[in-house]
Amino acid sequence: MNPGKKNALDRPLVLATRNEGKISEFRRLVADFGVEIKSLKDFGPIPVVEEDGDTFEDNAVIKARFTAKILGLPALADDSGLMVEALGGSPGVRSARYAGEKATDEENNLKLLKAMEGIEKRDATFLCVIAIAVPRGPALIYEGRCDGYITTALTGNGGFGYDPLFYYPPAKKTFAQMTPEQKNRVSHRGKAMGELRSEFDKVLIWLKQRLAEEPF
Ligand code: IMP
Repeated sequence: MNPGKKNALDRPLVLATRNEGKISEFRRLVADFGVEIKSLKDFGPIPVVEEDGDTFEDNAVIKARFTAKILGLPALADDSGLMVEALGGSPGVRSARYAGEKATDEENNLKLLKAMEGIEKRDATFLCVIAIAVPRGPALIYEGRCDGYITTALTGNGGFGYDPLFYYPPAKKTFAQMTPEQKNRVSHRGKAMGELRSEFDKVLIWLKQRLAEEPF
């Protein structure tokens, strides 16, 4: 937190994640806004909410609202995944569990490669939705997308998830062949975060107005 900009909010903003990568990325992004950032790691065990929405937006809002309500604090959640045109938008909201409830990235990738065998039209889009909610319910939404193609073989060693199968034409590389910095500049998550950062002043005003109705 920037000590020169104290009290931008009278209470912390909770990131609805335990993913260390996401936590540090977000902290860096809003470091100069003077907001205290916490994550689920700062609290004891809390119930897990089922992400059973039909869209990324539904799931991001479900997570943000649930966390805000349970902890009585404003919360931010993201949901993301890969949509493949020839597969009618699959794996979509099921990206993490495409090959089964506890599927590994490798199993998901192999299932996707198999599903795409013999298919020429390989357009795909990564989508990321960020939702910010207050305990009483209202939520703000930010969205980022990145268009590319599904390769015919695993290519590259970096990244995670479907990165080795996602070819990004402007870089002439898969996401797994790009450095984290290169990927963050163009990725769905990077774009959604960038959008949120560019409007974070307004987000803070929105939060202050909503939270004024809710005692801390
Ligand atoms: P989450 O909503 O961030 O947990 O992402 C859900 C799933 O979407 C992940 O488990 C990955 O399979 C996939 N996914 C989301 N973002 C990316 C990405 O940047 N690269 C590769 N796979 C991703």
